[in-house]
Amino acid sequence: MRKIQMVDLQAQFEEIQPEISEAFEQILTATAFINGPDVHLFKKELSDYLGGVHVVPCANGTDALQIAMMALGLKPGDKVLAPSFTYVATAEVAALLGLELVFCDVDSKTFNICPNSAAGILERENIKAIVPVHLFGQSANMDAIMALATQYNCLVVEDMAQAIGSFYQGEEVMGFAGCIGHAAGTSFFPSKNLGCYGDGGAMLSPDSEVAARMQMIANHGQSALYYHDVVGVNSRLDTLQAAVLRIKLRRLKEYTKARQQAAATYDAMLGDIDGLHVPVRDAKSTHVFHQYTLTLSRSGRTELMQYLESQGIPVKIYYPVPLHLQKAYNHQGYTVGAFPISEHLCEHVLSLPMHTHLQSNQLEFIADHVRRWFATH
Ligand SMILES: *Cc1c(COP(=O)(O)O)cnc(C)c1O
Repeated sequence: MRKIQMVDLQAQFEEIQPEISEAFEQILTATAFINGPDVHLFKKELSDYLGGVHVVPCANGTDALQIAMMALGLKPGDKVLAPSFTYVATAEVAALLGLELVFCDVDSKTFNICPNSAAGILERENIKAIVPVHLFGQSANMDAIMALATQYNCLVVEDMAQAIGSFYQGEEVMGFAGCIGHAAGTSFFPSKNLGCYGDGGAMLSPDSEVAARMQMIANHGQSALYYHDVVGVNSRLDTLQAAVLRIKLRRLKEYTKARQQAAATYDAMLGDIDGLHVPVRDAKSTHVFHQYTLTLSRSGRTELMQYLESQGIPVKIYYPVPLHLQKAYNHQGYTVGAFPISEHLCEHVLSLPMHTHLQSNQLEFIADHVRRWFATH
């Protein structure tokens, strides 16, 4: 059996190596490192893949969120609402822009932003933007978020770094993750569902004016060469990365299917264990399984982790500390108990290996050991 990894990029690379080598060879020969043809082609192809949304490539997912917030005109002091159970990037860029971060809780089943928790805060505070994160590969409840945004006159900036290709079929709104709000940021970090071989990211918006502002901000706020209309940043997707992304985008449907099949196999082998919940599927969203995340309904996570690791099975906790209790982001003085579901999840979730090349003997080996641990503890 092949060594089990959290994310096995090697197996995937072996299949596409000839195409990658050929693309790199061309770029190297043309010395088209910045802004080469692949960047423009990728922009167009990703837009087509996502149903026509405007795409502006950039250097990474964190920049994408920052530039999206800048392009929407958020100003220092504006309040931004984000879920507490997520990756730090969302909070970080808001803080760097001088925005005031306000957190809310998540839904215990989907791990995504909880509309009730958000509504309570929107009622009390003057929130300018909501940042739903489509966590682990599933779209947030966009029917509820867009309704709240209309009711409270907020912008919506989607963080879809973990959910490229996830489709939301709501009663009020529908579309791919990242294509429903006013703007979105995504990441092409190597381990993401669509990952390059270094850093990369993109902003999305259904609005061409917002997209034009994002493009300008990403390029030093420049409207014409050496004419700078607004304060911008330097954030580019380089041509080599764009070439990798074009090759992988052609296989994204197949990669997503492989992740979904691995998840279904895990479900079948782990679904009936007492003390364990497999990931819940939201009826309105497809799940692209960036992560396959278990929730323990009993104690013993550390022991379970140690046992699995001792058997050669890597596992990870996404995420061990909610943002409202992180030193850097607790200026509001949140205390334990502020967002009980986020806090509970941080103590009870465990993510199993998930990638496009999990073999059935690996899945069986992993599931067998999880079952064995629960049977004996
Ligand atoms: C990966 C990730 C990001 C940031 O992406 P980078 O490309 O690493 O900057 C932002 N938000 C979420 C939810 C992510 O998973």
